[in-house]
Amino acid sequence: MSELLVLIDHTDGEPRKISLQILTAAKQLAGAAGDTVAAVWLGEGGSDVAATLGNYGADKLYHWDSSDAQAYVTLPQVEALEAAFEASGADTLFFASSNHVKDVAARLAIRLDAGVITDATDVRAGEGGRLDVTKEVFGGDKITHSRVAEGRKQFVGIASNAFPAEDTGGGAPELVALDMSLSDAAMATTVDAVEKQGTADRPDIGEAAIVVAGGRGLGDQAGFEQMEQLADVLGAGVGASRAATDAGWYPHRFQIGQTGRTISPTLYLGSGISGAIQHRAGMQTSQHIVAINKDPEAPIFQIADFGIVGDLYQVVPKLIEELRARKG
Ligand SMILES: Cc1cc2nc3c(=O)[nH]c(=O)nc-3n(C[C@H](O)[C@H](O)[C@H](O)COP(=O)(O)OP(=O)(O)OC[C@H]3O[C@@H](n4cnc5c(N)ncnc54)[C@H](O)[C@@H]3O)c2cc1C
Repeated sequence: MSELLVLIDHTDGEPRKISLQILTAAKQLAGAAGDTVAAVWLGEGGSDVAATLGNYGADKLYHWDSSDAQAYVTLPQVEALEAAFEASGADTLFFASSNHVKDVAARLAIRLDAGVITDATDVRAGEGGRLDVTKEVFGGDKITHSRVAEGRKQFVGIASNAFPAEDTGGGAPELVALDMSLSDAAMATTVDAVEKQGTADRPDIGEAAIVVAGGRGLGDQAGFEQMEQLADVLGAGVGASRAATDAGWYPHRFQIGQTGRTISPTLYLGSGISGAIQHRAGMQTSQHIVAINKDPEAPIFQIADFGIVGDLYQVVPKLIEELRARKG
């Protein structure tokens, strides 16, 4: 029996949704093999959310209760995660495929001679304890199935919304404090951090269940005010096509696509977006795709579950009005 480690990504003392999804998936994999799931929490507050982590599948919680871990500097987290590996004797690590966590996993992989696969959309138990990992490559053109070579630790980064998060009421996990001190090399600290303005109340597009996206068809920056109104009535995040971000209408960090973010929400609602291949690469795994475009030949309609052919400036206000009326 071995432990599957799950590195918990968290903000403001709460685990991010993707980490609960990963715990759920790890629990199912562990159950089939008779293994256990151990969450790893780097930073303060882990013991406060231990019961939540247990409910989503953690049998054990390795906790490095240190403010150093929350500074979002990579090296302290690498060292703490290495300590979790030493304490657990684990062979497998699951982590959220966000840029920061990938950085931590990659550095630790070098230290432990592990194999890393990122952005997995599915993971299944394979032969000899190896995991069969599915991911999309070349902008979603190909689907690959890969596994880490035998004899190496396997690190697998999971894409957002690849799995559901299920609260199975497992209860509080066994708590193991990681008692370690940082090497001199890892003593860097963040001295200041400034929150980017303007989007604080909306969910991150990588995690949001609903994403409202706008493109060149909006015509100008003001069009995004309408996208934000629609997003707010739906509790959604706001994304954009590259044409819109290149025009300076919305910040680049919200760009969806091959050279932007990859999202997989339950619902993607695109307005004034043609559906170029590079945009589709970032959103085509959305569970439901709704498109509003005045051109009936727009390629986005080829992958849309529901399409509205019309002027977005007529459709979107009506949609907002109707949704507000339904909410009461
Ligand atoms: C290497 C490379 C990487 C790229 N990476 C990305 C990427 O990551 N993400 C990305 O998005 N793009 C990317 N692109 C750009 C991509 O090829 C497209 O140019 C871009 O996606 C187009 O954005 P758009 O759909 O907003 O604009 P357009 O293609 O100009 O489409 C605008 C759409 O709005 C519709 N429209 C206009 N007015 C209205 C209205 N009033 N009501 C309703 N509909 C209306 C039009 O019919 C049209 O279909 C990349 C390109 C390259 C070469």
